[in-house]
Amino acid sequence: MAVNALGDYDDTNVFARILRGEIPCRKVYEDESVLAFHDINPQAPVHVLVIPKQPYVSMADFLESASAEQIAGFWRGVGAVARLLNLAPGGFRLLSNAGRDAHQEVPHMHVHLFAGRELGAMLVA
Ligand code: AMP
Repeated sequence: MAVNALGDYDDTNVFARILRGEIPCRKVYEDESVLAFHDINPQAPVHVLVIPKQPYVSMADFLESASAEQIAGFWRGVGAVARLLNLAPGGFRLLSNAGRDAHQEVPHMHVHLFAGRELGAMLVA
């Protein structure tokens, strides 16, 4: 696994533990590539986290080191969640915090999927 600003992959992180079934999550969707579950501290009526099943630290690590098949599988999984929750009609936002400046808290690559209300400006100043 590539080294990056967050260091090597730490398999004690909370999402690794969720993937191993060591701690529970409110699962939304799962396939061979991804697990999607509700964020424990939701910022919108719909706030789902989509994570790859492979151990990548961040989006930067994932995009550098994942195979084309893994990258396609991940984004197909995100699409499946959006369809399952019927988010396209009202719209949704995808966000991925990668590294220090983005305040990434959990060092397992993930995408936040927000929906269910008018989501406002893209960034707070
Ligand atoms: P980030 O800052 O992008 O790393 O965001 C990490 C997200 O993980 C935050 O929105 C947390 O609320 C969420 N989170 C942390 N622990 C859990 C958990 N056990 N189950 C679900 N979401 C979690």
